[in-house]
Amino acid sequence: MKLAKGQLHHGVSLAPFTSWRIGGEAQALYWPTDSADLINFLKNHKAQETISFLGLGSNVLVGDGGIKGLTVITQGALNQLEMIDTHKVRVGAGVSCAKAARFTARNHCGGGGFLAGIPGTIGGALAMNAGAFGGEIWPIVSQVQLLSREGELKTVSKDAFSYSYRSLKGLAEGWWFYSADLCLVPGDPKEGLESIKHLLAKRAQTQPTNEPSCGSVFRNPDGDFAARLIESVGLKGHRINQVQISPKHANFMVNLGGARAQDVKEMIDLAQEKVEQAHAVSLKREVIYIGED
Ligand SMILES: Cc1cc2nc3c(=O)[nH]c(=O)nc-3n(C[C@H](O)[C@H](O)[C@H](O)COP(=O)(O)OP(=O)(O)OC[C@H]3O[C@@H](n4cnc5c(N)ncnc54)[C@H](O)[C@@H]3O)c2cc1C
Repeated sequence: MKLAKGQLHHGVSLAPFTSWRIGGEAQALYWPTDSADLINFLKNHKAQETISFLGLGSNVLVGDGGIKGLTVITQGALNQLEMIDTHKVRVGAGVSCAKAARFTARNHCGGGGFLAGIPGTIGGALAMNAGAFGGEIWPIVSQVQLLSREGELKTVSKDAFSYSYRSLKGLAEGWWFYSADLCLVPGDPKEGLESIKHLLAKRAQTQPTNEPSCGSVFRNPDGDFAARLIESVGLKGHRINQVQISPKHANFMVNLGGARAQDVKEMIDLAQEKVEQAHAVSLKREVIYIGED
């Protein structure tokens, strides 16, 4: 996305900032040049409007009416990435999980390779307790640094948060993730990088990874798979305008080009309704609705 960093913009389409390529405009948008720039901007930003943080927009459905107030884009901006001890990494909230995974592997750390399967930022992964290939982010976190809307920083232990499958509790309003310290185990770089390659190839076989989507739309219910349930009610491949339930993976909804958030919401409602009727299972959304209809 070509948009000058370090400047306050108004009326910017958020579709290019989401993996679904869907969404209205941000009333105001700030994409900092780096961490120091964001702190400085927040310290001087006196408007009492709502502030929303977006990483890589890979788990949000931005409404067609856009986002009121200020949207801060962290991708590539909160970009710290360094070894702070043996097998301990400090990673900024705007670093992509894929970059963090490769960095840990190259630096003789094991246990972080699963992050490569999450096409978001570390900040988004923390907010969602994202996971892939049997791993989840919070079990490898030791502490996090938080940033407030006034631009203050504070370090908080992992114990201040409680997490479960794709869910996190404990982040106070007006605070966001700035960076996280990840505690890993010894690993061989060559094996680590090979294993990442292998995991990604496996994923590309079963998921429509080259089409605009937000990954899994629903959380898997206990002991079952949302994809299996949606497929069982005949919705695999179903279309509403430019949104389609992926013929490759029924828990993915793909944008065929020019889809609207409203179409996605209709599709989500339809899948929930049909699965509830057929199986008495209530599918819970993993994707977060943000902004106005
Ligand atoms: C093809 C595909 C495959 C996927 N596979 C997986 C998978 O295997 N496992 C999985 O868990 N997820 C998966 N996802 C979903 C998504 O990648 C993750 O949820 C990811 O962690 C979201 O990160 P993000 O930076 O894109 O967050 P965004 O979508 O930008 O934001 C998600 C939420 O996090 C909040 N947030 C973002 N940054 C911060 C911050 N710094 N501080 C506080 N809150 C913040 C936002 O406000 C929002 O509420 C997939 C998505 C796609 C498109």
